[in-house]
Amino acid sequence: MSTTERHKESVRIPAKTGHAVKVNKGSLIRVTDLEGQQVVDFVAYDAQNANNRLDPGVTMDVLRSYRIKPGQSVYSNHYQPLLKMVRDTVGVHDFFNSACRPEMYEVLYDKKDHASCYHNLNQALEPFGILPPDQHYPFNLFMKSVVDDLGKIDVVAPDSRAGDYVEMEALTDLVIGLSACPCEESSCNGYHCTAIQLDVEPMAN
Ligand SMILES: [Zn+2]
Repeated sequence: MSTTERHKESVRIPAKTGHAVKVNKGSLIRVTDLEGQQVVDFVAYDAQNANNRLDPGVTMDVLRSYRIKPGQSVYSNHYQPLLKMVRDTVGVHDFFNSACRPEMYEVLYDKKDHASCYHNLNQALEPFGILPPDQHYPFNLFMKSVVDDLGKIDVVAPDSRAGDYVEMEALTDLVIGLSACPCEESSCNGYHCTAIQLDVEPMAN
């Protein structure tokens, strides 16, 4: 279900599905975990140049951290700040993991033709002329990866509870894509996939 008002767009993205929308510079993008412990694979493309896109590796390089705080930005592969983190009620997200895709479910869980963030994002971005990349490397909202001193990475249940959200400001015109991750085989989404909410508020003036 989606409703579009004159100045604000609010979309409830059902469990295991994706959504994309164009947002103008200055817009505030709020992503809410409606029920808690739901990961959102979030990608962003420069609306004028799809080769300039959100890049988790570059973001970690610039921030010198795998955590992002309010006031800091998410960067593109061209080292351009695309989104500024404005508010964050959780503070734990993931830059490490690429989008889940059917092959992942085959390799890790022996399941064929599983719904995936890769497919959700491709489908959502298609109307904006963004061709499927060989893989999506998202900013994984609410996803919790725990790294130990030996380099072991564990994906555990998110810290997010019902109503937790992140709010980011678009620093340029963007096409953003979101996928409510359909993995219920691991603690990634607390073994339970649920809907998410997207609210976009254009810059006031
Ligand atoms: Zn996923």
